[in-house]
Amino acid sequence: MSESNNRRSNKSKKSEKKAKKKNRIVLFFQVAFLIAIVLGFVGLGVTAGIVKAALKDVQPVDPSRIPSRLDENSVIYDSNGNILEKIQSDGLRTVVKYEDIDEDLKNAFLATEDRTFFDHKGFNFKRLVGAAIEGLKTRSMPKGTSTITQQLARNIYLAEIKSEKTLTRKIKEAYYAIQIENALLKEQIFEAYLNTIYLGSGAKGVQAAAQTYFSKDAKDLDLVESALIAGITSSPLKNAPITTIRKDKVTEEHYILDDSSEMYTIVFNNSCIDRYKAVLSFMKTEGYITEAQYEEAKNVDLKTKLKPGKLKNTDISSFFTDMVKDEVIDSLMAEMDITREEATNMLYTQGLNIYSTLDLDMQTKLENIYVNNKNFPLLSLRKDGAGNVKGTTGSIILYKKENIITNDNNLKLFKNEFKYNDNGDLVLLKNRKLDFIPIKEDEKLISIQIKLSDTYAVNDAKEMFIYKGGSVKIPSQFKSFDNQKNLVINSEFLNSNPEFFKKDGEGNLLVSNENYSISSKGTVQPQSSTVIIDYRTGAVKALIGGRNITGQKQYNRALSPRQPGSTIKPIAIYTPALDNGWTAASIIDDIPHYDAKGRRWPKNWYNHQEYPYRGLMTLRYAVQWSTNVPSVIVSERIGVSTSIEYLKKMGITSLVESGPRTDTNSAAMALGGMTRGISPLELTAAFGSLANNGVHIKPYSFTKITDRNGNIIIDNKQQKNLVVNPQVAFLITDIMRSGVEEQGVATRARLKQNIPVAGKTGTTSDKIDAWFVGYTPYYVAGVWIGNDLQTPLPNGSILGAQLWKKIMDEIHEGLPNKNFERPDGIITKMIDTKSGKLATDLSKEAGDVRNEYFIKGTEPTEYDDVHVKAVVCSESGKLATSYCPDESIGSQIFIRRPVPYNPEEHGGIVPRDYGEPPTEYCDIHTSNYNNNNIPSIDDLPLGTIVLPNGTKILPDGSKLLIDGTIVYPDGTIRKPSNNKPTENTGENDTNNSNIVETDENDVIDSNE
Ligand SMILES: [Zn+2]
Repeated sequence: MSESNNRRSNKSKKSEKKAKKKNRIVLFFQVAFLIAIVLGFVGLGVTAGIVKAALKDVQPVDPSRIPSRLDENSVIYDSNGNILEKIQSDGLRTVVKYEDIDEDLKNAFLATEDRTFFDHKGFNFKRLVGAAIEGLKTRSMPKGTSTITQQLARNIYLAEIKSEKTLTRKIKEAYYAIQIENALLKEQIFEAYLNTIYLGSGAKGVQAAAQTYFSKDAKDLDLVESALIAGITSSPLKNAPITTIRKDKVTEEHYILDDSSEMYTIVFNNSCIDRYKAVLSFMKTEGYITEAQYEEAKNVDLKTKLKPGKLKNTDISSFFTDMVKDEVIDSLMAEMDITREEATNMLYTQGLNIYSTLDLDMQTKLENIYVNNKNFPLLSLRKDGAGNVKGTTGSIILYKKENIITNDNNLKLFKNEFKYNDNGDLVLLKNRKLDFIPIKEDEKLISIQIKLSDTYAVNDAKEMFIYKGGSVKIPSQFKSFDNQKNLVINSEFLNSNPEFFKKDGEGNLLVSNENYSISSKGTVQPQSSTVIIDYRTGAVKALIGGRNITGQKQYNRALSPRQPGSTIKPIAIYTPALDNGWTAASIIDDIPHYDAKGRRWPKNWYNHQEYPYRGLMTLRYAVQWSTNVPSVIVSERIGVSTSIEYLKKMGITSLVESGPRTDTNSAAMALGGMTRGISPLELTAAFGSLANNGVHIKPYSFTKITDRNGNIIIDNKQQKNLVVNPQVAFLITDIMRSGVEEQGVATRARLKQNIPVAGKTGTTSDKIDAWFVGYTPYYVAGVWIGNDLQTPLPNGSILGAQLWKKIMDEIHEGLPNKNFERPDGIITKMIDTKSGKLATDLSKEAGDVRNEYFIKGTEPTEYDDVHVKAVVCSESGKLATSYCPDESIGSQIFIRRPVPYNPEEHGGIVPRDYGEPPTEYCDIHTSNYNNNNIPSIDDLPLGTIVLPNGTKILPDGSKLLIDGTIVYPDGTIRKPSNNKPTENTGENDTNNSNIVETDENDVIDSNE
């Protein structure tokens, strides 16, 4: 138990004894006697009646509990012990012990507020009587007579009626003062007083004041600083040495102490000087300081002594600390089994120390990137002739602000937006700039909200700001719908409020600004959020929930679900697939796919290119190029319930599994078109589980909480969950590296130090959201960019990857390069990327080979059988015969799909790799032959390779003679033999992808 707790419990015993000794009756007469004095001895009997009435509702108190009743600010620290914020509800307080308060400060208060404090019993009778006589003369309540004990009684028990100047209050104050004197030692009373007194600028108590004005502790104050603080008490507003004023109110007369805030400036308050000198004079009179000390202190330039302290780190936004507060409250509720109200109260008043996970240095880097608007795109939206933004359906979704709001802030309704009916009622027409929202209770219409559309304005830097529309304020009883759902405003209202709707010269209606609401401050667009997590611990290292946003409790976009788009593919589709028997070399055919209604769905982002489908591809390639069809095919194979199970294991909590619109479908799981979406925080942490060898750690914002005495209240344990084994995590990590480091949709996320990056882009339909979520051997970070309104971004996923790179380049500055760890049980094989089987010479010749990683035991054992080679006559495009001239004969590699593809079944669409080998013989070069003699397929000689679909294959450069003889390139003539594949185990590490793409750096990933 700490020292102060000991003291407190000793005191409790003492007060119990005293309480027995001094019963309420004695107390009553004490108070009555005092009040009799105050009222000028009107008689004890009369006074007794008054006192009895005043005390009828007072609660018995236990003054020994005073020290623990004092509010104290909790403090949030960053991971290196820097103060992020002193949490305050209505003031700042840090409780200090009597012995930790500077003597000068104590003396200054005693001399100024209560010279006989250590001698009296709670009241200064001399001053009381004097004041009573003065009060009788002037027929007013006595004032300026309070002792330190009385002031404490007032601050503790009578805070809500502190400023009342009633007799009842005086009586109650006396009652409590006596109780305090009876229960506490003088030093304890003085300590409690110095910790409760209000000292201006939100500072409660001397420690808070010392920090607020001088950025130091109360024990370190000097004489000048002490006198300055003691002088504040009599009138905190007038005598506080600093004043905070709005920037536009600052004049040359002001001495500026701190100009770091965006809106306010802290200046020196000249009016504190007189009271300061008075305090020094009192101290001299009381013998606390010498004449020389007095003279010296009097002439100090007070301005130079001030060093205003910061309540919080103003370099960073409040998104993170707000999140910490929410998590602390939740934790306190769970761990201590208390209500939300009790937990909130603890946070705001109990002086907790909260050790957060934030890395201030990293956060500052992130904030600096976010304040630079050049890091974000300018929007160019589809507009009508008047500059209003049109949605995809062509209707106006966002009005240009000046089209709606006049220069003198009137809301303007055009002539075609309203009419008057026969009763003289005003009819506001529907589907214009006002929405009429019925408000119902038990199915009954109780009111109609007239809501103003959102508007936008563009500043000189061409940045767009959205202003949220509010309501037009008309009482409910005057509003109704007509049968066309237009809004009718009763003529009664118009007649009794003739100024509400005015008309301009052109007959438009104007509503003045006190009669409607619109957000005063616009929100810059597009918006964005970023989360950076140390995935080994789950610690959130930096977080931003919006651009250009100041103030507390702002909408935190890092915690709000948005559509994840393709970023969902690695976590919902490919990781579960790899954990269920698929390999990086598993082959998926990217060919037309159809939804339940028979429509071609989904489309790939390269749907507009020459080949809207790319044909046979490995799982790796599908991730690398963020193809949609393969994602849907794999989703259908593994099942949506499998995806949901893995997403839950990775900490996704926003899945919708029941109701009219759910996430239990491939559109949601394979393409990220979800009902609610996933928050950047959860999505980043989900990728973090892949980075962290398959173990998900729930992201958290603080490590521990201690009480004001340093005792640990909560030790925040990490919640871990095994998602997949390290081998699967390694595979998906390596697969995602391909998209960044080789070729693919994410190459813009490559870091300048060449630190490895595994990550995934994401763009939702119409480019409304752009994501990049990725990780390095150090951190995982998720970046989201999008508009608050569902309007498209100019450049899709490129934006997310670019911003991610910018942030991570800075975060990794100076960190040594290192690689992802490769777990045991991973082997490599040289594979054919069209069959997923072991590569052959033919695979190499076709350029379709790659060294691929496999979890030992899942590697292919068969050789490629998809690539086939045939000798073709270039003139006919058919199989060559011995009658074709040499110059028109060439060998050609064809793709023979395991599942044949027929373009005719798909409207003539062919995938990029389509090219079945010909099945017929050249019919041009047949001069010495009778066409009728060409043998049928069934008659082909033994030894010719005949594939199931009828294709005939010959060794490279050979000719098939019509009688079945094969002429080899070297001239030997034989029956054909098997084309034995080349052995190739591929035990080396080079990434040898020969996939040729030309436009990978400019591709845009988009789902439909
Ligand atoms: Zn020919």
